[in-house]
Amino acid sequence: MMPKAHILLVEDEETLILGLSHALSREGYEVQVARDGLSALSSLHERAPDLVLLDVMLPRKSGFDVLAQLRREKRKVPVILLTAKNQEVDKIHGLDLGADDYVTKPFSLGELLARIRSRLRARTVEMETPDQIKLGDAIIDLRAMRVTRGVQVEELSLREVDMLRLLWRERGGPVSRERFLEEVWKHERFPTTRTVDQHMLKLRHKVEDDPSNPRFLRTAFGLGYRLEV
Ligand code: CA
Repeated sequence: MMPKAHILLVEDEETLILGLSHALSREGYEVQVARDGLSALSSLHERAPDLVLLDVMLPRKSGFDVLAQLRREKRKVPVILLTAKNQEVDKIHGLDLGADDYVTKPFSLGELLARIRSRLRARTVEMETPDQIKLGDAIIDLRAMRVTRGVQVEELSLREVDMLRLLWRERGGPVSRERFLEEVWKHERFPTTRTVDQHMLKLRHKVEDDPSNPRFLRTAFGLGYRLEV
């Protein structure tokens, strides 16, 4: 049997805490509750959850601050924001900060549970990719988010890491620009396929010996890219 997924619920409304804790436990999740932003951070540092449900308006430290701190620490735990109604700006700001998804209060329990399942599934797939990929002289550390080539070390962005994970899962086969947008850029409103190309260009400069004539990060003509391994 799969071990119980561990969810950190960060929320300060008692009725929501009660209702959600109950519903999540009934679904078989292990639930931990933090009632303000600072407790959320200390819980996160104590034990890494599999998923975080994060309210935005919190005492002591806002949900945005908690999220920003998590991403600064390069923690990739999936975060679903619980945003208030009619706060479109909050939603977009949250996604920019690296939230994986959001629900708007008042939300239906069914919808939230579906989103939780989907984020946990994506995380399982992600964990199937290795921490390290070796491409020629380049050693790519996906966890530490850096590429080492001899004495040269380059940092990778979250997007670049996600692009590499996706390419790795599909290695040998082509990955379309649309699929990159869907899986790496997710909810962003106006990314274009040009965005994918720009990121690939940067990635080639970090990984390839000769970026203009790539050995590993190849172009799949008329479609997108593929990883040659
Ligand atoms: Ca609140």
